[in-house]
Amino acid sequence: MNKTVLVTGGTGFLAVHTILRLLRQGYKVKTTMRSLTRGESIIQALKEGGLTEFDNLSFYEANLSADKGWNEAMRNCDYVLHIASPFPAEQPKDENELIIPARDGSLRVLKAARNAGVKRVVLTSSFAAIGYSKDPQNHIFTEEDWTDERAPIMPYIKSKTIAEKAAWLFIENEGRDMELTVINPVGIFGPVLGEISSASLDTVIKGIISGTITESPAHTFGVVDVRDAAALHIKAMLHPKAKGQRFLTTSDGAMSFYDVAQFIKQHRPALATNVADMKPTEKEHYVQMSNQKAVTTLDWHPRSREEAILASIDSLFNR
Ligand code: NAP
Repeated sequence: MNKTVLVTGGTGFLAVHTILRLLRQGYKVKTTMRSLTRGESIIQALKEGGLTEFDNLSFYEANLSADKGWNEAMRNCDYVLHIASPFPAEQPKDENELIIPARDGSLRVLKAARNAGVKRVVLTSSFAAIGYSKDPQNHIFTEEDWTDERAPIMPYIKSKTIAEKAAWLFIENEGRDMELTVINPVGIFGPVLGEISSASLDTVIKGIISGTITESPAHTFGVVDVRDAAALHIKAMLHPKAKGQRFLTTSDGAMSFYDVAQFIKQHRPALATNVADMKPTEKEHYVQMSNQKAVTTLDWHPRSREEAILASIDSLFNR
């Protein structure tokens, strides 16, 4: 194997799992981070994932909000997995704090990749760019659906929608021969490596176990295990049929906060002492989504949502 892959934002939860998988498969991996001082936390996480050799891994400093560093990071890369994007636990007052780095960062990465002769970029978008405009009742969300960024939506949801749209427009108008594939994950769970967690785990798992979440809102969410999301990025990078496509990335079904709370009480009762008693979310409010495109086109078979949730709980609380 002599292919080189750039993974943006190596300090992130999904990115570090993706790097682990690429290195195990024999790829050379370059990864960017905002400050090189964070490299040690990536090595620590990869060691916990079982890696002992790091000769095929190199670090580059680059920020989504500045041009500096991207051309150098991109040099000699065959593929780019653009995973970095602001994903805060709390929404900022000014939506531009998320929108500008998400959109302009994606365009920076795409431009540098195109100039470096990269074959394909896989962009990590989100279900946020799919599922926040149509009435979810009696609708099964697919890759055909788009969130309307002009609607009153949360800054993070808007940032992901605008960034993905900008990326497709760039490829159409300025991409030349470079290919784009987009991955649209639902809530990403699964095991934490080292200290690299994310807002999805911190909000849902820690929030329910600590008892700070006391109600189950009508809004339910899809779950995907980070290991399966990482595997899908690599399939999307390689498969000829993935070119120009987006893939809704979810295990089967959906969950509410109530379901997660019940699951903890049943499977990890020792951790459930502070878990609040919540009212169940009505069945008709469950979001419905199809993962068939990824399953059939890319032969992708995700773990169940329960397995992903359990892996998060155990890696956060039972290590
Ligand atoms: P994460 O751990 O918070 O990772 C986000 C990454 O983006 C971090 O490496 C972060 O770097 C980097 N980043 C943020 N702002 C940046 C900037 N201005 N310049 C450079 N890097 C920046 O979250 P994650 O779950 O792994 O998210 C990875 C991707 O998946 C994101 O695109 C996110 O939108 C998407 N996604 C996540 C979920 C989910 O439930 N977790 C669901 C759907 C889609 P620092 O470490 O320096 O902050």
